[in-house]
Parts: sequence; C-alpha cells; structure tokens
Amino acid sequence: MSNATTPALPQPLRRLLGHARIRGSITCRSGLHVGGSKDNIDMGETDNPVVRDPLTDLPYIPGSSLKGKLRALLEQSASPPHYDPNGEPRNHRPASRDPAEVARSRAAYKACAICRIFGPHKDPDHPLGPTRIIVRDGRLTEGDRLRLEALRDEKQLNFTELKTENLVLRTNNTARNPRILERIPATIRLELDISVRVFASDDDADDEPAMLDLIKQGLEIIQRDTFGGSGSRGSGWIAFDCTAVTHEGTEIWTLGSPAVADHVSLPATPLQESVAPVPAEVTPDTGDQATLPDAAGGAGVGSAEGAMVSGAMVGGAEGGEPTPPAANNIPEDTHEG
Ligand SMILES: [Zn+2]
Repeated sequence: MSNATTPALPQPLRRLLGHARIRGSITCRSGLHVGGSKDNIDMGETDNPVVRDPLTDLPYIPGSSLKGKLRALLEQSASPPHYDPNGEPRNHRPASRDPAEVARSRAAYKACAICRIFGPHKDPDHPLGPTRIIVRDGRLTEGDRLRLEALRDEKQLNFTELKTENLVLRTNNTARNPRILERIPATIRLELDISVRVFASDDDADDEPAMLDLIKQGLEIIQRDTFGGSGSRGSGWIAFDCTAVTHEGTEIWTLGSPAVADHVSLPATPLQESVAPVPAEVTPDTGDQATLPDAAGGAGVGSAEGAMVSGAMVGGAEGGEPTPPAANNIPEDTHEG
C-alpha cells in the first residue's frame, strides 16, 4: 500500500527456482502444551487445553507456533539482537526516501537472513519478495496416533494428559490454586515439514545452504530451550529428527542425535501388519527414519512393544479396518505457543 506522495519503490522480479525441504519428526521429550481454545474441550476439564483439529479432535502443533518460536529464538540470539526495545521484530525500513538512505535500507535487507526467511516485519515496501519459509502444521505420526487411540480406550485419555500444577504456600508448604494443564504426552512424535522457497533475481539470489543452516540453528536452539507453554516448569522439551534437502535434491544436513533417539524414540505401531504376527520385512523401504512418508503410516521402527499395543487396540473397537488417511489440518491457526 502506498499513498499518492510516496510511490512504492520498484521491486526486483524474482523467479521461483523451487522448494528446499526439511522433513522428519518432532519428539516430545516432556509433555507439550501448545494452547488451543476452550471451545475445543470435550473430555476432561482444563482451563488450558491444547490446540486440536476441529474435525478429528486430534492435537497438533500449529505451524504458526513453530515458525514463531523459531523466529523469536533466532532474533534473540542474533548479534545484535534482531528486535526492538518494544519486543517486536526489527526491520530495515528506510528512514526517508533519500536515495542514500534507500540504498542503505536495501543493502541491510539483502544482508539479513532472518528478514529474508521469515519476512520483514511491518514493512510492505521491503525489497525481499515473498517470505521464504513455510512451516506446516505438525500432525501426530500415524504410529503414535494409534498408540494414543489405544490409551484413550484403556485410560480414558483424549490423546493427551491432564497435568495438575499448583502454588506452594511458603508459610506451611501446602499446595494452593491447582490448575490443570493439558499436554501431548512425552515420547509422542509429530511430523515436521518445513519448505523453503528459493528465488533468484537479476541482482540477488537466495543463498539456499545459508538459509537452511540458519533454520537448523533455530531448531537446535529450540531443542535446548522449550516450545509451547509452561516451559520453565518442565513442559515443552522437544527434539527434532530431520533432514534438509535443497530444491535440487541435495542433502545439506541432518539433525537428530543417537542419544536422543535412544531415549525417546518409541516404536511406531506397524499399521497393516498389526493383526497378523509382524513379518521380518516390516520396513523394506528406504530405511531413513528421518524421512516421513506423506500419507502412509508406519514411520519408524516396529518392535515387540509396538506390536502389543497395536494388538490390544485392534482387538478392540477398530477391527482390521484399513488405515484412514491422515486428516488435513484445515484451520488457519493463530495461536502462538
Ligand atoms: Zn532483518
């Protein structure tokens, strides 16, 4: 939007070369609370529900929350920090239309990977083109959706846990003001799917490896920090297992430590095989655990435990029913964690 006295600055024409991708999983190392609306609750009572898909009632991680946390931590760790004293993200808007000032602004934008990747804040005249990063909503992996479904019947849990927290009175060490926080339970895995648009123009080309590296840095900081609510009280410890591939298909990096996988990767329940004994060739596919198939389930490794859980479930309500496709996440979510 521009007014009559200040015509918009000319924008470079950018060609979309393709999309880099970061795909894999998010593992909850502790319970995870990404807040939703109270309207969504229908089981258990909590003032702090998690966000759920309105059609399936399944909890998920809104892409907006993950994108926001990534950006916030990268801005806090940038030197100098990439935010203003009021707490909002910085931009590099020119202070005037003086050509030298405009040139300074353009150079600053061109050099700023955060603005390029996440989009400049409150500056419609910026020269960087579209926001590069696209963070999809994180759905439960199919195996863990089935694990939670089994627990719902067994323990009356609606895909989540209800955790009570309270205030300890300093005078006599008694608990006061209990509040209930809903969380996706520890060990549950959700899908991670990030795309990065890669553009080129006559005067500027995206540095694709640098963009992917910065996002990796942000993911690593989240792993050491927290995600969602109640982070300082133990919630929101998450780990990523993922691989970044350029728009031309070259693998750039992978993230995911064996130690993390040893501790928290639980067997994903095999889907189609769950009625019959699990044959030896359960996972003949690429074997790359970090890469999630789009709609097919069974990401991860089967095991005796997984088979037991799924057996119990299949013996119950679901029968040998074929796996339904994972539901789409429809809402344009606005909840920040
Ligand atoms: Zn910037």
